[in-house]
Amino acid sequence: MFEREREPGGGERVGILGGTFDPVHYGHLAIAEEVYCALQLTRMVFVPAGLPPHKPAAGITPVQQRVTMLECAIATNPHFTLSLVDVQRAGPSYTVETLRLLRQEWGPRAELFFVIGSDSLKDLPSWYDPEGILAQATIVALTRPGYVDVRAGLLERLPALKDRLILLEGPLLAISATDLRQRVAEGRPIKYQTPEVVEEYILRHGLYRQAGRRAERQEDTHAAHAI
Ligand code: ATP
Repeated sequence: MFEREREPGGGERVGILGGTFDPVHYGHLAIAEEVYCALQLTRMVFVPAGLPPHKPAAGITPVQQRVTMLECAIATNPHFTLSLVDVQRAGPSYTVETLRLLRQEWGPRAELFFVIGSDSLKDLPSWYDPEGILAQATIVALTRPGYVDVRAGLLERLPALKDRLILLEGPLLAISATDLRQRVAEGRPIKYQTPEVVEEYILRHGLYRQAGRRAERQEDTHAAHAI
């Protein structure tokens, strides 16, 4: 899969969905497909974070397992791929650096669309080098249940966003990885919230069984990739 990505993709319109994916679920897959179709992209690339800047490293499922679940989840969709750019380097996954590396890989003609949940949008000005991010990619924010329009305040703080923001009404799936982990810990079902292969992987490997293991993350919402 990486060989394909290493080929220069000049002229491509590529969507990028970064996240912890602990685990990947239908919320992620549905927004990825929505963006792919709405923006007529060439492909969607999932970029799992190694050490997400906003989330404490302790308690996050080992990257190889998160990557395997992601690989299984996207295997049936020919325009979904995966990049290990963030897990193959040391240190936190700053978005600006991720985009720089991806652009290096795909060439200057590639148009990049960086997808985030609208819940992360309000934090954009406080990410590391937001202007640098906007110089390289258009932000695509998907509305998520509970979204409040924050654009006016955002543009005041980050004027460069004016021509670099696309707000899309996403499929409103109130699924979160936090909730899935909690459910597994409590012995409640996650079926139909994530692909069956992912569910099977979680059960087979006994992931998320320990209640409270991720308690430190309960207040940390959805900013996996977001500095
Ligand atoms: P957690 O609950 O552990 O914070 P998460 O479910 O938000 O995880 P992440 O891997 O952190 O998943 O998310 C990656 C990206 O996908 C983020 O930009 C997040 O806002 C977005 N996202 C996740 N779930 C949904 C959903 N149900 N609808 C829309 N966007 C989503």
